Amino acid sequence: MEIAFKKVSKEGLDFSLARNKINFFGKIYQKSPTLALLEGKLEGELEHRCDRCAEDICLIVDEQVEMLISDGVYKTTKIDKQISQDTLAIVEIYDGLINFDGILQSEIESYKSDYHYCAICESQ
Ligand SMILES: [Zn+2]
Repeated sequence: MEIAFKKVSKEGLDFSLARNKINFFGKIYQKSPTLALLEGKLEGELEHRCDRCAEDICLIVDEQVEMLISDGVYKTTKIDKQISQDTLAIVEIYDGLINFDGILQSEIESYKSDYHYCAICESQ
């Protein structure tokens, strides 16, 4: 799923997509001519392996996702500085298209990169 950066308005644009058992949905707002704020949610189940014993586990995902999307290389202008003061992650796009599948993929990867244990290991 891709949305042209130019289509994103100040009022916000809804998005929703799914990958396996994970849903990713929310809204994206134009904050400046080259900066948009994505506010979304990652919800569902993720198959994973326990980081200690490698047992298959199912992670219940319920995560808020907030990031800035920069149309082109991110330059800190005065306005952008005010918007990005919360030290949000910034995703740069170079073809004018926001690739939600790519964002979802990297969110899943970063979620998985945390340590996750099965119930047995967690209770030890
Ligand atoms: Zn385990």
